[in-house]
Amino acid sequence: MLTSFYAHATFAEGIQWYTDIEVAKQEAEKTQNPILVVFSGSDWCKPCMKLKQEVLTSSEFEEYASQNLILVEADFPAQKKNRLSDEQTAHNDKLAETYNPNGVFPSMILLDHTGKKLGGMGYKKDFEIKDYIAYFSSFSKMGMNSEGMNSEKETNKTHTKVLKLMGSRFEVSAIQEDEQLAWDAINAGIAEITRIENLISSWKEDSETSEINRKAGIEPVKVDKELYDLIHRALRVSKLTDGAFDISFASLEKVWKFDGSMTELPSKEAIAASVAKINYHNIILDDETQTVFLKEEGMRIGFGAIGKGYAANRAKKIMQEMGIENGLVNAGGDLIGWGEQEDGTVWKIGIADPQEKDKIFSWLSIVNQSVVTSGNYEKFAMIDGTRYAHIIDPRTGMPVTGLKSVTVICPDAELADALATSIFVLGEGAGINLVNQLKGIECLLVTDENEIKTSEHLALNYYE
Ligand code: ADP
Ligand code: MG
Repeated sequence: MLTSFYAHATFAEGIQWYTDIEVAKQEAEKTQNPILVVFSGSDWCKPCMKLKQEVLTSSEFEEYASQNLILVEADFPAQKKNRLSDEQTAHNDKLAETYNPNGVFPSMILLDHTGKKLGGMGYKKDFEIKDYIAYFSSFSKMGMNSEGMNSEKETNKTHTKVLKLMGSRFEVSAIQEDEQLAWDAINAGIAEITRIENLISSWKEDSETSEINRKAGIEPVKVDKELYDLIHRALRVSKLTDGAFDISFASLEKVWKFDGSMTELPSKEAIAASVAKINYHNIILDDETQTVFLKEEGMRIGFGAIGKGYAANRAKKIMQEMGIENGLVNAGGDLIGWGEQEDGTVWKIGIADPQEKDKIFSWLSIVNQSVVTSGNYEKFAMIDGTRYAHIIDPRTGMPVTGLKSVTVICPDAELADALATSIFVLGEGAGINLVNQLKGIECLLVTDENEIKTSEHLALNYYE
């Protein structure tokens, strides 16, 4: 069944297995993917054959590996007819000496591009392919793998908690040798996010935000300095974007529902009545009294486009203060990374393909940056075959069209969050124009026609 191992003959075509570790290291450096070395005895070791048949040649594994791993086969055939070249035998012996000194077969070892061992495992009877992939993923480019593959993970130093906060999937990671410190910091970050949620949520009756909304047109409300400052910053973004970003969009929240419950468009009258309430100029701040006043009755504010970014910034800050020098917070697609990954390489963030959201079509290296994506593929209303995104154009009261996703890259997650939403409203031309004028901020847009547009200085990596 398994004949010549040499020349990649035993593996399916279309997926590259290297026989030379040095070549593999070069590839790993280029792609920033880890190397998976598989030690096996192809013609004498039963579990090795099983591993190959059930896992390594499955389409699921191949699909994953072709994007995320550099594969090296180190075979030790017993039968004469399968013998490798002397050169290859010496090469494999040397690999085994370094990475598999006890001669465990099969053995899968993960290395970085310098040849440093990252981890490893053998054949596991009770493992499904997805379990292997989940394990490999923990060494792979962070944030680049689709959900599920990337759930709870804990390697030597990387500790991650995945949970639902602010109505979204959050992922909080700390890279830290001291396990206790890592979990303490992660929990403190999560507590901070929860605290912010309680402060800014407009659907929690007892939040200060709800109080501001209740008192619209009636009287100013004294609020916490933190909320006051957040509203102040939101108004700055409104000015910068000429009103494309407007937290008073929320008066339309009663008119549009983006949870799949809407079957027909709201009436023109309902839209017109609500849109008349949207105007950031009517959000009156008073520094002296630290009060917020929505001038008109029926006005409402909401932080859907800025809150997660703010929470991500804060969680990072809290964790840094506790001594976490390397970490990542993914707040429902709003990411902020600092320091490096466990293997010493910079964080890499995949950009999802808007057509198939589990697929990644390009990636960015980030050094102390945040990457925030707003897309119309998660929350939307489908009415008569048209997809209405959950971002509202404050001028018309209608959901915006024209773009599938907007990604903004800048050091500040809150600003990136707000700008991603703004660019959705501004559209391609005006959106990119704005970003090109802002220092240290870049963006990437996917149009409805699946064209990719970027700001002037964006350095993007594509899969070949
Ligand atoms: P996501 O929540 O998917 O990350 P965004 O950051 O773009 O996406 O935020 C979208 C949310 O922003 C909407 O669900 C809504 O709460 C709010 N929003 C919609 N339109 C506007 C707007 N023009 N200005 C400010 N906030 C908006
Ligand atoms: Mg946003």
